[in-house]
Amino acid sequence: MKSRNQALINIARQKFDVCVIGGGATGSGCALDSQLRGLTIALVDAGDFAGATSSTSTKIEHGGVRYLEEAVKDLDPAQYHVVTRALHERIRMLKNAPHLSRTMEFLLPCFRWADVGYYDVGLKMYDWVSGNASLSPSHFLSKEETLRRMPTLRRSHLVGSIAYADGQFDGARYNITLVVTFAEAGGEPLNYARVIAFEKDSSGQLKAAEVEDRVTGKRFVIQATVFVNATGPFSDTVRALATPGIAPRTRLSKGIHILLPFEVMPSADAMLIPKTEDGRVLFAVPWMGRLLVGTTEQEINVHDELYVTKDEVEYVLHHLNQYLKRPVTADQVVSGIAGARPLVSNGDSRDTKKLARDDELEIDSKTGLISIMGGKWTTHRAMAEDTINAVQERLGAPKTQSPTRNRPLAGADRYTPDYWQKLVREQSVSDETAHHLAGKFGTAAEQVLDIARRETDLSSPILNDLPQLRAEVAFCARHEMAVTIEDVLFRRLGIQLYSWRSAIHAAPVVASILARELGWSGESTRSATRQYVEKINRYLQLAGLAPEPFSDSEISSISANVFNAKGR
Ligand SMILES: Cc1cc2nc3c(=O)[nH]c(=O)nc-3n(C[C@H](O)[C@H](O)[C@H](O)COP(=O)(O)OP(=O)(O)OC[C@H]3O[C@@H](n4cnc5c(N)ncnc54)[C@H](O)[C@@H]3O)c2cc1C
Repeated sequence: MKSRNQALINIARQKFDVCVIGGGATGSGCALDSQLRGLTIALVDAGDFAGATSSTSTKIEHGGVRYLEEAVKDLDPAQYHVVTRALHERIRMLKNAPHLSRTMEFLLPCFRWADVGYYDVGLKMYDWVSGNASLSPSHFLSKEETLRRMPTLRRSHLVGSIAYADGQFDGARYNITLVVTFAEAGGEPLNYARVIAFEKDSSGQLKAAEVEDRVTGKRFVIQATVFVNATGPFSDTVRALATPGIAPRTRLSKGIHILLPFEVMPSADAMLIPKTEDGRVLFAVPWMGRLLVGTTEQEINVHDELYVTKDEVEYVLHHLNQYLKRPVTADQVVSGIAGARPLVSNGDSRDTKKLARDDELEIDSKTGLISIMGGKWTTHRAMAEDTINAVQERLGAPKTQSPTRNRPLAGADRYTPDYWQKLVREQSVSDETAHHLAGKFGTAAEQVLDIARRETDLSSPILNDLPQLRAEVAFCARHEMAVTIEDVLFRRLGIQLYSWRSAIHAAPVVASILARELGWSGESTRSATRQYVEKINRYLQLAGLAPEPFSDSEISSISANVFNAKGR
């Protein structure tokens, strides 16, 4: 990917066929699809790519067992449509980025024989709806087999479990990889660029977007023939920029996850808790050496700040503990994430958990704005395909097939499941580092290791007890447009998910490398570090995690710990 400065120059200089607003899963999918169909595209995001909902999901490529249950119970065709479409799309996500996704078995523990019957039938239906997109048939596991695969499960009254398969993926990296693939195909992505207004021609059609560069505060204009609004939770805000006073279409539902030590449930399989007290499902999924558990559902407003609260931690632990032989306590929680589901609504007053996760394409004939709203991560590609079909129609261009159905993403070429062993053999890295690099970058791991070999001060790990290398920070700044500490620690390398405390300790190292890559002064490096450390420390406080969050003097001493930017 080009540098951010170069992207700014290129974007302000030309007129594009399409400007995609929003670099989450949906917008990045739209940008890639249209670029591969031969259009010229600018993709802008107000924050980092994957900086909103797309990095906060449960990271499951699925049709949704609960949604299928609701589709059948409520005879809801919209819900059924989402399930069938997503079941077919999960296969494409798995194939197009095998380094970022994998098939996983989910065990649904049963404590009564009646439940075995009910869930067995339900999951057979899930298999049946999957049709030729089935990953593997669901099947019953005895109590002994269930406990062998999930040894920390509660034994009493357990009669067995039903196992079924879905996909699991790295949401933040999948999103960044969509953007990298788009850029490699010739597209122009730009993060930290917020659309703040539109310009219209004499007939009221959008002709340009006014954009604020959030790094420098400067404003510039992007000219395009078609504007696609793929801003997820912010869809209504952008629709209102084009048509002030337009009726809102989205409702937002907050969902959180917590991360726990893997030892809490040491298993290669995930667990589905089929019914919480508020009639939802909860997942406990092995994730990058941790256990990711969630989620919750609470309606919120677009401006509400997203963080994990103490009550939410207790809610998740309360339900998880009913399934474990040894209860987990809040002091074992290592980190968390909160996100907002963008759900499409027609003024429907139903509880958000009852709203279908379907998407909707709105083409505003008065302004020409195309808004793609709602949907799921799993259906992002299909949503993009529909959107770009509509874009081609609007441009009067011949309609072409979407090239993204079978298009490997960056890092997928030459990738095989044992690719990490090649790194161990040929690049002399530890098993742990090789696994980590292959899982985050695919075959682009070799470029990271190339940096580590040439610039020896970047060859060591960021923190001694974690596999992430300093070279990865430089790679993310040079090739993935990372410009903040959080861009690196959360979305690109995953340390912020692994542990908030580790992220705090890693911050000065990451800041020092970013300073060198991006030309920050010593003062801005210390101030960026302090701001990041304070933010993560606040997350620790709000989630009520023990031991005590860092004190002011500890924060000061960590933030002052940046090494000399010119020190190599
Ligand atoms: C808790 C939770 C769990 C979930 N689990 C799953 C799951 O397991 N599987 C699944 O398939 N789906 C799941 N989902 C749903 C899925 O995450 C979302 O459907 C998807 O990520 C939405 O992507 P998006 O690109 O539409 O929105 P976002 O990722 O929010 O992207 C929108 C982008 O638009 C940008 N933007 C906003 N305003 C502007 C502007 N004015 N100018 C420029 N850019 C702007 C934002 O900065 C943002 O990056 C889950 C969602 C949540 C919240």
